[in-house]
Amino acid sequence: MCDHSPACPQTTDANCCSAHVTADHSEQGWCRLCNGIVLFDDGHYLTPDGRAHLLAG
Ligand SMILES: [Zn+2]
Repeated sequence: MCDHSPACPQTTDANCCSAHVTADHSEQGWCRLCNGIVLFDDGHYLTPDGRAHLLAG
């Protein structure tokens, strides 16, 4: 669970990928965010339900 203040955005929020990075694997091209999202450096991300999304903007 998120213990940041202010709390990180939920996975359903438009700015979900602005959550804190909790596991940085940028040398492998991805990182895990506080809300469970896996963010790839090609602009895609996965939500905890296993769905792939394209980062908007
Ligand atoms: Zn957090």
